[in-house]
Amino acid sequence: MFTVKSSVAVILAVLGCAGFYNSMVSAQTLPDHVAKIAEDVYSYGPGDHYYSMFIVTGEGVIAIESISTEHSEGLLQAIREVTDQPVKFMLHSHNHWDHASGGQVFKDAGATTLAHIEAYNWMEANTGRDMVVPDESWRGMRKDITLGGTTIELHYLGMNHGLGMTVFLLPEQKVAYIADLVTPNRVLFSIVPDFNIRELERSQEEILKLDFDKAVYTHNEAPNALEGGTKQDVTDNLQFIRDLRAAIYAEFNKGTNPMMVPGIVLLPKYKDWAMYDQWLEMNAWRLLLDDWKGPFPWQPDHVH
Ligand SMILES: [Zn+2]
Repeated sequence: MFTVKSSVAVILAVLGCAGFYNSMVSAQTLPDHVAKIAEDVYSYGPGDHYYSMFIVTGEGVIAIESISTEHSEGLLQAIREVTDQPVKFMLHSHNHWDHASGGQVFKDAGATTLAHIEAYNWMEANTGRDMVVPDESWRGMRKDITLGGTTIELHYLGMNHGLGMTVFLLPEQKVAYIADLVTPNRVLFSIVPDFNIRELERSQEEILKLDFDKAVYTHNEAPNALEGGTKQDVTDNLQFIRDLRAAIYAEFNKGTNPMMVPGIVLLPKYKDWAMYDQWLEMNAWRLLLDDWKGPFPWQPDHVH
């Protein structure tokens, strides 16, 4: 397709003005699949249902969430269209293959890849096909990285989903990056795998205490997902879990056979959320089983 942008590029290239064109683009427009979240903070989402974030600090770039080799290659290209600064860090949110793969792309670009020790140990023991073990790990509940005058806080909130789940906060810009613990505009993920439901609720309450206005969510089904979301999304996700549990218990109180309950609960308030028709019954099964068998997965506190 011969777009206005490409025709301008051709004309300027013919005139020998390619350098001028490049600086003009970086000053006035953003690459495809990139949105500006705050000053020097960007989200990247190529339409694969995964959003990454990057921060341009003045002394290098901090990127969050590599996802896969394909996603990382696109993310790195987008970063290079925004700035000529090198990528110094690729930060992983947690251990799962569908989030923490593709790290080699950023190692090759000279970045240090980093994950919480719990995620690191799992990744070392269960390295996925597209995954590499991070360069470094961190332990405890909190780590701050400061680069070029920008500080990013890494918060480990304890058990909730996967291992070493990290919530990222840019305190000055009041921007958070949150993977899997909150997904705007969508019911819980399928059978809610590797989530401890009560710990998820506790973690969402702790996220609400963090000081941020905007958040980039790795998964986001809101119409303007590339632009990120707000703290209201955390409140809404927490309320969904509580509404679903209340609906389940309302059926118990009516004497409905527990095995029938997941198939009949309805939450019309959320009918417009993504995957409501497909996943609500699976979500209900998971909540019901968690309250029946006791919380799972669970682990002893051994990271401090
Ligand atoms: Zn996950």
